[in-house]
Amino acid sequence: MSQQQLPSSVLRLVCDSIIENLGEKSLRMLFVQAGLQRYYQNGVLPPNDDTPSITVSELSHLFNIAFQIFGDRGIKPIFLRAGRSNMQHFREHNKTLSALAGAAFKVLPTDAKIKLVLSRSAKLAEELFQAPHRTYDTPEGFFVEISECPYCAGNHADHGICYIPLGFYQEAIRWATSEEYRVDETECIANGGAVCRFQVSRKPNE
Ligand SMILES: [Zn+2]
Repeated sequence: MSQQQLPSSVLRLVCDSIIENLGEKSLRMLFVQAGLQRYYQNGVLPPNDDTPSITVSELSHLFNIAFQIFGDRGIKPIFLRAGRSNMQHFREHNKTLSALAGAAFKVLPTDAKIKLVLSRSAKLAEELFQAPHRTYDTPEGFFVEISECPYCAGNHADHGICYIPLGFYQEAIRWATSEEYRVDETECIANGGAVCRFQVSRKPNE
């Protein structure tokens, strides 16, 4: 497991989403159960900045405990939201992404916008988590594949459970195209897959 440290803002946005949905007591319980109180106790939230913070393997452990405590249905909206807010944060603070807001990007065809925003977002996530990401497209859609996925590591389910990247890529596409596209996790390591794979539809929602 990776001892790579994540920027504190990643953890902070997950914390914010849990507090908004379930309250501060639930957040405290989660960190106690996970044995990770050093990142959250006495009501002091992790700073919303680039300070090196929780390691990738600790975060995977925190996610597993969150599934155990709150259940799949409880955690799904929280993690989707955390994924979206992480995308919003990085597109303002990360040069690779913020560069896409320029005039040159706006005039690209939609398919090119989608490919570019997916590849840049996946590259950012790959560097953050030190987990290989691959992007490609076929007539069926646009794809992101994660091997050694940090979101579901050590977890088991009968369906895809990587809700944070789902929210992250949904928001990336919405930002790039100003339209809603369907994004599905079509294969998940937690469900016996070889990789975690996200598929973006070719056409926006009606
Ligand atoms: Zn996964």
